[in-house]
Amino acid sequence: MSSADCIFCKIASGQIPAQKVHESDDVIVFRDISPKAPAHLLAIPKKHVKGLAELRGLEPAIFEAIAQAAASEKIAASGFRVVLNQGAHAGQEVEHLHFHILGGRQLSWPPG
Ligand code: AMP
Repeated sequence: MSSADCIFCKIASGQIPAQKVHESDDVIVFRDISPKAPAHLLAIPKKHVKGLAELRGLEPAIFEAIAQAAASEKIAASGFRVVLNQGAHAGQEVEHLHFHILGGRQLSWPPG
């Protein structure tokens, strides 16, 4: 499944460039274009998944990719945060499910 006008589908297919840091059969992890922390990555399923309810079966691949990307970015030991914005109240901008991976500095809690 893909969406012709979805920017993350285009990144997944290589139509538009991104700074990929990890790739597996079903998942890619790339640098956020507007980083909110010294390390700010996005982990996405390659197929167009709109929300958690459609992720069925891809959870292990997503979390494995997150763990590997955090290790390769050298933020695993110091700690990092994984954020999923889903829907309007969470401020989701791109309608292709993505997990933010944030680290490289002390992160405040709770979020605003
Ligand atoms: P969200 O608000 O959770 O939907 O987050 C969308 C994220 O995608 C934002 O942090 C954007 O900076 C990021 N983003 C948008 N376009 C690109 C792109 N072409 N490459 C990398 N990150 C992007």
